Amino acid sequence: MIQIAVDGPAGSGKSTVAREVAKRLGIVYLDTGAMYRAVTYQTLIEKRSVQNAHDLEIIVEALELEVAPGQIWANGKNVTEAIRQPEISRNVSYVAMDAYVRKCMVDLQRKIAGTQSVIMDGRDIGTHVLPNAKFKFFLTATAEERAKRRQIELDKAGYSVDYKALVDEINERDRLDSEREVSPLKIADDAEIIDTTELTTDQVIDLILKKIAY
Ligand code: C5P
Repeated sequence: MIQIAVDGPAGSGKSTVAREVAKRLGIVYLDTGAMYRAVTYQTLIEKRSVQNAHDLEIIVEALELEVAPGQIWANGKNVTEAIRQPEISRNVSYVAMDAYVRKCMVDLQRKIAGTQSVIMDGRDIGTHVLPNAKFKFFLTATAEERAKRRQIELDKAGYSVDYKALVDEINERDRLDSEREVSPLKIADDAEIIDTTELTTDQVIDLILKKIAY
């Protein structure tokens, strides 16, 4: 069994790259950000507070999360598209700060990785979820480049979001994710750092596949 960790800040291209690497290697891809987004979605839909630990505990205790490649369900409802809404992006870092939410998500992530080969993308995969992963990558890019990519993605999904607002949101999300107490966004000591600012998606995929092959 093989474990590959891909971490990095918002919009660094982790998901696109990890999904394709999984396909080429014939292993399972797990988007851990989608799990925190699904908890956020459920919290907002039930009109609870993303900044209240008691509210989050109620939500997560009752939440049945189901994941399949490229799809996620919350209490039986397919929320794959709904969790990409800008409102979820603005709130998810508060949910991800909560120690109990994180414990539940990490338990599930480790359970999935315990039975099959996986490539997981997130913020704490190499440092916390899979510290013994054989391969660890940390993807970076300038905030401006990441906002540009996000804007294209959101545009395709039918959301028109101001570029400057996206840069601000990305910077704020990175700040909250890096400064939180539990498993902050951090580069694992043994991770390979890939700056993707000047690279195409295919170049990043090739780089990772080459590293894994040797
Ligand atoms: O990867 P994505 O941008 O969809 O992640 C959404 C949010 O989920 C991040 O901004 C972060 O707050 C949280 N997250 C996390 N740990 C992970 C994956 C995501 O805290 N492993």
